[in-house]
Amino acid sequence: MQFTQSEALHKEAQQHIVGGVNSPSRAYKGVGGGSPVYMEKGEGAYFWDVDGNKYIDFLGAYGPIITGHAHPHITEAIKHAAENGVLYGTPMKLENIFAQKLKTVIPSLDKVRFVNSGTEAVMTTVRVARAYTGREKVIKFAGCYHGHFDAVLVQAGSGPATLGNPDSAGVTEATAKEVITIPFNDIAAFKEALEHWGDQIAAILVEPIVGNFGIVEPAEGFLQQVNDLAHDAGALVIYDEVITAFRFTYGSAQKIVGVEPDMTAMGKIIGGGLPIGAYGGKAEVMEQVAPLGPAYQAGTMSGNPASMSAGIACLEVLEEEGVYEKLDRLGAMLEKGMLNAAEKHGIDITVNRLKGALTLYFGSEKITNYAQAEASDGEKFGQFFKLMLKQGINLAPSKYEAWFLTIAHTEEDIQETITCVDQAFAEMA
Ligand code: PMP
Repeated sequence: MQFTQSEALHKEAQQHIVGGVNSPSRAYKGVGGGSPVYMEKGEGAYFWDVDGNKYIDFLGAYGPIITGHAHPHITEAIKHAAENGVLYGTPMKLENIFAQKLKTVIPSLDKVRFVNSGTEAVMTTVRVARAYTGREKVIKFAGCYHGHFDAVLVQAGSGPATLGNPDSAGVTEATAKEVITIPFNDIAAFKEALEHWGDQIAAILVEPIVGNFGIVEPAEGFLQQVNDLAHDAGALVIYDEVITAFRFTYGSAQKIVGVEPDMTAMGKIIGGGLPIGAYGGKAEVMEQVAPLGPAYQAGTMSGNPASMSAGIACLEVLEEEGVYEKLDRLGAMLEKGMLNAAEKHGIDITVNRLKGALTLYFGSEKITNYAQAEASDGEKFGQFFKLMLKQGINLAPSKYEAWFLTIAHTEEDIQETITCVDQAFAEMA
């Protein structure tokens, strides 16, 4: 495979765009460097790059693309929206339709508000929780990623961990002091934090099923205990479902874990590939938000017709029967193929999978928290990533990210991917 055009474009990009990328996780820093591939077209489960190479895509644009690229129903909805004006600055009916659609399957949402990114959604939930409780501190879990606003760039996973900036420069000490970070799945550490700061905690912020140091499920009972103890301390619980909403089931991860938070932040899938975020929760909490309450949040682009249309269309596709069963079936097939190939070539791997999302870690330790994910072999992952890329398999360039399957993937695609995994492991052994 030749990457000549991609390399030329990256050289050019670096002169104009900082680091050549508009989101740092797109750089190949976490996989030993090199020029990222410049994609030109996506259709279904496939990508074509500027050099004419074809790929099976498992990046899924870091999560939003669950229907496959350019799904006809979503494309049609976006076209229709474009023809009717992409931005109004006035309320419109689609916002009502979409809000009701979300509320129907996520019972913890009495009221919602649409924004433009996951970052915005999570950032606002924290502000609203502070307004509601009159407290300032937040507890979060190491390695979870909640976007790029100041308070959550302390011991952050995903991109910041991959690039070596879990604690971002430019975040004030005062902000960092408001945030307490503890290990995921560690209820003793959580209790200890509440003992120290319980009466100062506005909110507990958590990915109910982690997607940012790989796919990591909560231990049995962990989230229920977090909820109970948080409420005893007078704090709110915020679920960051930017990755998880509509990823594993039609609805949110709260349905899977069986625990209801006070507030929920969403993004990614609910925009069908267009920019979106949404947050919501109990009425009395959400009524803190302007124009009803004193907590301010606004947005020129919020609830725009294009994102609303794409999001509604995406949910319409996901509502169809068998979608999540298919993702689970393909995911299981891929997981099994990876494990078989690893055994055949004597490579130590661990696979964490839930339905159509999985993470392959190099190492044999079970991964239940960030420290374990951090200890998995990044160099081997980098080698593997490049061997897969050369065979036409597009993955996220980081050992901390998930592989996201789409409903466009076929059994043949998965079989081909397993063959490539086998070949990569053979070269690594
Ligand atoms: N929360 C989680 C759990 C995420 O995974 C992400 C993005 N990867 C965000 C928040 C931020 O979303 P966005 O990039 O749309 O701002």
